[in-house]
Amino acid sequence: MKILVINAGSSSLKYQLMDPATNEVFAKGLCERIGIDGHLKHTPNNGKAVFDADVSMPTHAEGIQKVLELLVSADHGVIASTDEIDAVGHRVVHGGEKFAASTRIDADVIKAIEDCIPLAPLHNPANITGIQACQKVMPGVPMVAVFDTAFHMTMPEQAYIYPVPYEYYEKDQVRRYGFHGTSHRYVSAQAIQMLGNPAHSKIITCHLGNGSSLAAVVDGKCADTSMGLGPLAGFAMGTRSGDMDATVLEYLMGRYGYDIKEMLNILNKKSGVLGVSGVSSDFRDLDAAAAQGNHRAQLALDIFQYQVKKFIGSYAAAMGGADAIVFTAGVGENSSAMRARIVEGLEYMGVKIDPEKNKTRGQAIDISAPGATVRTLVIPTNEELMIAMDTANLISGKG
Ligand code: ADP
Repeated sequence: MKILVINAGSSSLKYQLMDPATNEVFAKGLCERIGIDGHLKHTPNNGKAVFDADVSMPTHAEGIQKVLELLVSADHGVIASTDEIDAVGHRVVHGGEKFAASTRIDADVIKAIEDCIPLAPLHNPANITGIQACQKVMPGVPMVAVFDTAFHMTMPEQAYIYPVPYEYYEKDQVRRYGFHGTSHRYVSAQAIQMLGNPAHSKIITCHLGNGSSLAAVVDGKCADTSMGLGPLAGFAMGTRSGDMDATVLEYLMGRYGYDIKEMLNILNKKSGVLGVSGVSSDFRDLDAAAAQGNHRAQLALDIFQYQVKKFIGSYAAAMGGADAIVFTAGVGENSSAMRARIVEGLEYMGVKIDPEKNKTRGQAIDISAPGATVRTLVIPTNEELMIAMDTANLISGKG
C-alpha cells in the first residue's frame, strides 16, 4: 500500500510517500515559502535525481499539484501514476477532546478540526489548508487525520484538569492536552516490544528536540504529559521557557510595557536554552560553546538536564516506578552526552547506562548497564510511519 503523509504548516508542507507495511520510503520532500515565492525540494529514493528549485506556489494546492507531478515524472518520479497512491494521512496538531484516535476525514471531521482552531490558532488552519488542497488535487482519494493530541486523551482527570475555576474547563475546554502524541505513541509501543511485550508496563518517554515533552505511559496508554493547553508548557526547550511562574509575566509586562502577545513571543521564541545561553537554540552549538568555557551555554545545558531529570522523577512517582526511560527526537537520539547527564543521579531508581552502548547512533537500542532495573532505551521516532500505519488501517477497515 502506498500512503502519502502530509504535514502542512502555514507556509510549508512536508511529505513522504511510503509503504507502512515495509516502512519503505519511496520519496520525501518539502515545499517552502508557499504564498511567498515557493521552493520545492523533492528526494526520490530510487536513485533518480533530487529536484531542488524555486516553484511558484501561491497556495498549498499548487504545491501538492507539483509534488504529484514530481512523483510520476520521468526524471524524479517513483510511481507510474498517481492512482497508485491509496490514501493520504495528514498530521493535525489539535484534536481537542473530540479526537482520541486517528479518523477518516469527511466534512464533519473538517468542521471539528475547525472548532479546535481557538486552541491551536497557528497550526490547525494550516493543517486544514493542507487537507483541502489535497482534496482539490486528489479528489476521491481517502484521507485520514492523525492528531498530535490524541494519544494523551487517556490521561486521568487529575493529570489534565488545571487547578483554576472548573468552569473554564466546562465552558472553555481549558485543560492539559499535550503534544508530540504521535511520537510518544510510536516510541512507547516500540519500547513495549523491546521489553518483550509484558502485560503491564510503566514507561517514561522523553521526546527531546527543538520542542520537547515527556510522557508517562502506563500499559501503553498515556497517563501524563508535560505540555499543556499549548506547547509552551513543561521544561526549558530550544526557545521556549517551559512552565513559568505567572508573576514573572506580570512583573516584566509592568516594567517594559509589553502586551501579552509580546510577552508570549519572548517566552516562545527567545527563552529556553537560547534565552539563557544567548548563544543558540541548537544543542550542538551549546555543546561547542560550553566546551570553550562559555558559562551561560553550560548553564543552559545544566538547566535542561536538571529539569528533564525532575520530570522523570515526578513521572516515576506518579506511576509508582518505571520499567523504562526512552529517549527520542533530535537531542534524545543524538546527544549521548545529554542522555548521560539526564540519567546521572538516577541510580537510586535503578537506572544505569553502559557508556559504550550510549555512543550508538541511528538505531533502536537498549543502553542499560548490567544490573539496571529500569531499562534506558534510545528509539528513533518515526511519526510519518505512525501516520501512514493509522491511515492504512483506517482505509482498510482495521482502524
Ligand atoms: P524538531 O522539534 O524541530 O522536530 P528535532 O527533533 O529535529 O527538532 O531536534 C532538533 C534538535 O536536535 C536541535 O536542537 C539539534 O541541535 C539537536 N541535535 C541534533 N543532533 C544533535 C547532536 N549530535 N548533539 C546534540 N544535539 C543534537
